[in-house]
Amino acid sequence: APAVSLPTSESVLSLAEAGLSACGVDPAALFVPEAPGTVAARSPITGTVLGHLAAHGAEDVDRTIASAVEAFAAWRTVPAPVRGRLVQRWGQLLGEFKDDLAALVTVEAGKTPSEAAGEVQEMIDICELAVGQSRQLYGKTLPSERPGHRLMETWHPLGVVGIVTAFNFPVAPYAWNTALALVCGDPVVWKPSEATVLSALATTALLNRAAAEVGAPENLAQVLVGDRAVGELLVDDSRVALLSATGSVRMGREIGPRVAARFGRVLLELGGNNAAVVAPSADLDLTLRGAVFAAAGTAGQRCTTLRRLIVHESVADSLVERIVAAYGTLSIGSPTEDGVLVGPLIGEAAYAKMQSALEAAVAEGGAVLCGGGRVLESEAPDAFYVEPAVVRMPAQTPIVFEETFAPILYVMEYTDLEDAVAMNNAVSQGLSSAIFTSDLSEAEYFLAHSDTGIANVNIGTSGAEIGGAFGGNKETGGGRESGTDSWQAYMRQATNTINYSGELPLAQGVEFI
Ligand code: NAD
Repeated sequence: APAVSLPTSESVLSLAEAGLSACGVDPAALFVPEAPGTVAARSPITGTVLGHLAAHGAEDVDRTIASAVEAFAAWRTVPAPVRGRLVQRWGQLLGEFKDDLAALVTVEAGKTPSEAAGEVQEMIDICELAVGQSRQLYGKTLPSERPGHRLMETWHPLGVVGIVTAFNFPVAPYAWNTALALVCGDPVVWKPSEATVLSALATTALLNRAAAEVGAPENLAQVLVGDRAVGELLVDDSRVALLSATGSVRMGREIGPRVAARFGRVLLELGGNNAAVVAPSADLDLTLRGAVFAAAGTAGQRCTTLRRLIVHESVADSLVERIVAAYGTLSIGSPTEDGVLVGPLIGEAAYAKMQSALEAAVAEGGAVLCGGGRVLESEAPDAFYVEPAVVRMPAQTPIVFEETFAPILYVMEYTDLEDAVAMNNAVSQGLSSAIFTSDLSEAEYFLAHSDTGIANVNIGTSGAEIGGAFGGNKETGGGRESGTDSWQAYMRQATNTINYSGELPLAQGVEFI
């Protein structure tokens, strides 16, 4: 695959500084001398450090949460449709500064401009949804068994929402949570990935500008800079009513029980190990495009990345041949260059994990059909660009059950659709899945039996829209964000019984005084 030239570290820094300034963050005031406890802002494009940022300590976290609790007291009294105006203004600002924020996502996460802009577009979309939702925070009214009584369900602001996010979607999952939390009456405290702090600061600057413009209380949206130790302070603080965390299964396994131990509410969006089943009747042109984008796009660093292709034996050879040929045309390199489709891995550890997964796959009987090698190594020794790999596996061996956060597509064959669906469901994660087929009954069978939170027909596993609830089952954590009824996670539900009868009949016919 053609590898194109890389920008200098200075030009990447300039891009970041321009994005920060446009969004209202002064880069000159941001970077501090390196010292113990500072966080390095890096770009995977060059692998170099852009600058160091001061991190927050325990006292800062305490103060931040205390001020969020104060903000809650004021914000919860503002009518929800009026709260919506803040989110509406934030969405407008995100539209105005879309390219600037997207540039920061490109710098920090290595996404192509098109994918980075798509991520910011998701933020704008969820703002629109949340503004509408601000007039629809509805409950049901239910008949009572007692005469002259009525039951109703009401929803109230919940409290401080702690948000922990992953590096690969630096800003959109924050917005999915924040746009809804704000209309629901909750302030947010955000611990972004330590790899993508600049994008977080720019996002928050735009939100705080919106808050100032609409006259919202201070401290509705705050950022905590730091690594997982800072995240743990949020996790363990009982003033944080909901902890919404996006990241690896490992992270969820650590924080889930800790939040549960203090009876807090947790919303987990964890790793995926997503499969697509390709039936004999599939349109192979469409399947090819769907599979290649889902598997190699974002350099395999999406939670919804296609990692397993389960292909009917009658079409496996021809489809695999075409995928390998398509992989050969993917341009790998700096996302700042025109035409590049595959950017860098986030760092060296991701590269090492990809290599050891490929070694394990071969040891378990797999054949690497293409990719896996590093490119641009001499130009940027600290950056990790790889050729996306396709590996033909004899079966779903142990390595296939793991989510390796890199572009490796494992291909397995099947004979009967029931077996293909069983293979789809055999992994411990349950985020996204797809079937490519022209047969209605196959499609419906798949949708009825695939155990993932997202299941698609004739599109790949990635690229969800915000209108539908996003999230997965099993070790993916069970959380749902963005559309449909996800707003309810950010509110406290109450059931109210109202007696207008003038009598006091007890439920279930119980007799007392
Ligand atoms: P990660 O788990 O290493 O880190 C995610 C975030 O959690 C970071 O902010 C990190 O500082 C924090 N963290 C880690 N351990 C913590 C702890 N014990 N207490 C508190 N905070 C802690 O994940 P990553 O490498 O940044 O992201 C990649 C992973 O995220 C993949 O597994 C991917 O599938 C998953 N992901 C899931 C979704 C989803 O919506 N389901 C979306 C994006 C990414």
